[in-house]
Amino acid sequence: MLKVSGLALVMALMASGINAQALPVPAAETPALPAPQDIDYPGVIRLHVDATDLDRHIIAMREIIPVSKAGRLTLLVPKWLPGHHSPGDSDLTKIAGLHIRAGGPNGQQELKWRRDDVDMYAFHVEVPEGVSEVTADFQYLSPVQERDGVIVHTRNMLTLQWENESLYPAGYYTRRIPIQVSLTLPKDWHFATALETDKREADVVTFKPISYDNFVDSPLIAGRYFRRYDMAPGAKTPVWMNLVADDPKELTVSDDVLKIHRKVVQEAYKLFGGQHYDHYDWLVAVSDEMGGIGLEHHRSSEIGIEPGYFANVAGKGFGRNIIAHEYIHSWDGKYRRPAGQFTSTFNEPMRNELLWVYEGGTTYWTDVLENRAGLYNFDQRLQMLAVTAASYDILPARQWRDLQDTTYDPIISNRGPKSWPTWQRSEDYYAEGGLIWLDADTLIRDKTGGKRSLDDFARGFWGAHNGSYLPAPYNFEDVVKALNDVYPYDWASFLNTRLNRTGTGAPLDGLARAGYKLVYNDTPSDFIKSNESKRGSVGLGYSLGLSIGRDGTLRDVLWDGPGFKAGLTAGMKVIAVNGRAFDGGRLKDAIVAAHTPGNSDKIEMMVQDGEYFRSVSFDYHDGLRYPHLERIEGTKDLLKPIYGAEDKPVKGK
Ligand SMILES: [Zn+2]
Repeated sequence: MLKVSGLALVMALMASGINAQALPVPAAETPALPAPQDIDYPGVIRLHVDATDLDRHIIAMREIIPVSKAGRLTLLVPKWLPGHHSPGDSDLTKIAGLHIRAGGPNGQQELKWRRDDVDMYAFHVEVPEGVSEVTADFQYLSPVQERDGVIVHTRNMLTLQWENESLYPAGYYTRRIPIQVSLTLPKDWHFATALETDKREADVVTFKPISYDNFVDSPLIAGRYFRRYDMAPGAKTPVWMNLVADDPKELTVSDDVLKIHRKVVQEAYKLFGGQHYDHYDWLVAVSDEMGGIGLEHHRSSEIGIEPGYFANVAGKGFGRNIIAHEYIHSWDGKYRRPAGQFTSTFNEPMRNELLWVYEGGTTYWTDVLENRAGLYNFDQRLQMLAVTAASYDILPARQWRDLQDTTYDPIISNRGPKSWPTWQRSEDYYAEGGLIWLDADTLIRDKTGGKRSLDDFARGFWGAHNGSYLPAPYNFEDVVKALNDVYPYDWASFLNTRLNRTGTGAPLDGLARAGYKLVYNDTPSDFIKSNESKRGSVGLGYSLGLSIGRDGTLRDVLWDGPGFKAGLTAGMKVIAVNGRAFDGGRLKDAIVAAHTPGNSDKIEMMVQDGEYFRSVSFDYHDGLRYPHLERIEGTKDLLKPIYGAEDKPVKGK
């Protein structure tokens, strides 16, 4: 074996050239931006935002930033925003018209800014001697059509996510940078935010000074049509539901629907035993013009819902998780924050490894609290649980990618579409994380004969320091310790096994312990039917391994399923089934017919792949298959107490 050192190899190559060339020098190491310090910023930033342009939706800013010395000043656009779980959600292309001048608003000396060579979120300026503040003027060109991004500003409403409307100086922890904001609203509009108002004069609102980290965490909604509901009547700590809507009719929420949502608040207090805010605002946009959103903050949440959402909430329909989910994040995610998510500035990278607590725990408690509050009934919960259990149980990607690794998925894929989601996996730490918490809950209930439960963990872990809204960071060991405080067990192994294993099915021990098993039959549940109608698709994931749009376009093909084996991929189009034009009902009929005892006929499909046509056949005879949960006879039902569905003793007996 010949061994040649790297340098010798380079020298040999050089020697072989006629004109010997000197070794090229690689680019110098990137100069770092000023490291953030935990010290007070010298002065209060003053920011004015003008959001009155209802025609072009351009939001104009003037920001006056105190400076204590001459030399380089680096201004940052926030890059890592809590709750997004990935970098780069601020769209730099929309920040435009930037001019920086020495002095206050009347300063004449333009300071030429230069973007950092490496970090596109950083702007440098050289501050001359004798200057005590600089003024930055710029705009946020809010999207005017969907292809430009999420619509946040319409003729009737707006959302201000301050990361788009502010810059902050590098070199300081964001909690040490004070800022005071004033805002000009369109005439006679109403607004809501967790920011506290200092004064309002006509359409100009001035807020009390606040730290930059709490500022960015306190977005604002405003609208022509606005209504506010008290969600915690009589409580010392207010919780408001603020609605803006395209249509004023959407502002009316019936008493029974309000009652259920108030119950979500009460059930959260009962579970966690306290709260971590001094006031809380649900900022709800009822609109089909604004982009949809669900984003948690410590003292507020941004919620985008479709018109009609509040009609017929109780015990009807599905897909109503967003309000409770974002609200629960005030405890799980904002107050208790994974240590790797608790960064000193918005430009330090966040680490996602504990998102199965942050999002998985929130998914679990959302289900639990919604049922306890009456937003869903027990049967609906079983239908939803069955789909979660089944879809993760059959997921072929479990063979190579563990759940822990999916916590990095937002960074890897930034929620972009995938060709083979069942082989690539997605942000499974939400729903599968929820299954792990169900597993833990039933284990504690089982081992303690129902005396203790995950409710005790919730109170201990998320409920401490009632009233404080300082974040309390935690790591894996803290989770294990808090579980041990409820019931001593080898929780580290319990969690590590479920987070790090590959090659097995979903963590369904919790269901089995609760007295339920996953079964399949040929009848879709109401939940599945509702999903199909909402998505306009035919869901055959558990049979042919296909999800098909109403027009025949394949939306998804299960990796290694019958469709995959027939050579199908997403994007192809089913033209005909058994010689007749495609129709979802006809395809289901064909699957049912092929399941008839004694019928060995294959299901024939004509498929279009771009300009090419192909016929494929399925030797499939297992019929339609849909997941359900079924009671295991002779076992104790542990799900009912979790979801508040125990048969209540009749009064007077
Ligand atoms: Zn969430």
